[in-house]
Amino acid sequence: MLWGIPDGLFQMKTIIQGIWERGQTLRRQHDMVVQAAQLDTVRRLPWILATAMAALLIGALANWNHPGALAPAPFTGISVASWINLAMFGWLLIVGVLLRWIDFARRGALPVLLLATSCLLFACVRSVVDQWGSASVTMFSLGCMFVGTLILIRPAHSVALYLGSYAVFYVALGYTQINPVVLQVNRAQGFGAMILALLMAVVLWRKHTVATLLQRQLEASNEELRRQQLELEILSQRDALTGLFNRREFTRLANLELQSTSRHESHTALIMADLDLFKHVNDTYGHPFGDEVIQFMANTLSNGVRATDVVARMGGEEFAVLLPKTSLAAAILLAEKLRALVQQTPVNTEVWQSIQVTTSFGVACIEQGQSGSLASLLKATDLALYAAKNGGRNRVESSLGSLDGQPVHRIAARKLGR
Ligand code: GH3
Ligand code: MG
Ligand code: MG
Repeated sequence: MLWGIPDGLFQMKTIIQGIWERGQTLRRQHDMVVQAAQLDTVRRLPWILATAMAALLIGALANWNHPGALAPAPFTGISVASWINLAMFGWLLIVGVLLRWIDFARRGALPVLLLATSCLLFACVRSVVDQWGSASVTMFSLGCMFVGTLILIRPAHSVALYLGSYAVFYVALGYTQINPVVLQVNRAQGFGAMILALLMAVVLWRKHTVATLLQRQLEASNEELRRQQLELEILSQRDALTGLFNRREFTRLANLELQSTSRHESHTALIMADLDLFKHVNDTYGHPFGDEVIQFMANTLSNGVRATDVVARMGGEEFAVLLPKTSLAAAILLAEKLRALVQQTPVNTEVWQSIQVTTSFGVACIEQGQSGSLASLLKATDLALYAAKNGGRNRVESSLGSLDGQPVHRIAARKLGR
């Protein structure tokens, strides 16, 4: 006893609650797959209709000269069964034509339900009329099986549909079958066929629900996997602080570019940039501010070059810019522009007002018609950068060196004819 409720009642309540919750879960699942089920049925409909129409036509022809022996006077000599078949044939033809114009699957459950109801009604009427001749209920059984196996209907609708059809069958059979024993047997046979078809319909629906939900789960997992893969790919290619390419991706892209350069016979230049006395910036303003300076540098480089140029953070406060189809002279001018931009743009700190940082640049190039590896290009750029540091920082040096003590950008400008 719990709070005065007998244990048996309490258990019963729990069981009923469990069944109710299970029912609600099933209902929710069915709501989720109902449109997929309609699509599935509609997709199969052309061949279902074609097969049914062929069977109806054959049935109509076979019955043509066999009027029911016990048919009432107005119908003797007429094959009522054949005419019913032809009427159903015409109806299915109309459904087939409507299929081309109306999107059945997106019009809710009604069109599919109407089709199933018309099939079951036809089967009912045929069996009722057949009582005048063969006294068989085969058509009702076939109709139930046909709808049960080929038209996907949610269980709640199926129960109403099959029980309703059977009620019509049960009552109408009483009007044409006058032999009470045969009537009883036929009603029992019809009931068996209806229950079997209903079970089949429910089982098939359940299979469809489980398969559809599983497929959706699989698609969702695949989508998540693809998203994670993309994220991983980006993470493996990009530097986390600046979003620029990392050294590994830069190497891959640069090698690709150099391969195409040797084919296209054009220049490829490389700029290497290194923030000056960055250790001092870190020591004075703190590491987080140092990070901001690195981000500022990354933005300045990205915004200052073409979209086809490859900008990367090679590590620490060192950056590389690969410039496809760019001569050494043009690359030196670009480096000079970037150097001036960094120097002239103040970087704001939270505590201090703002500071200015400078950068040294090394530039090298594989000229048109020459061949060269990335390693040799990197080495030449490194030497130029080393020269820039040794020459006092905040300057651009190229693999040509700085002739006669003149800044290299002037030499470059002369080479470009400016
Ligand atoms: P130089 O002009 O010769 O290049 O001097 P430098 O101080 O810039 O060169 P050094 O190689 O001595 O120092 C580089 C500093 O960059 C040291 C390191 O702590 C700092 N650094 C490297 N990576 C990061 C980073 O991700 N964030 C910050 N804030 N600092 C970094
Ligand atoms: Mg440095
Ligand atoms: Mg460095």
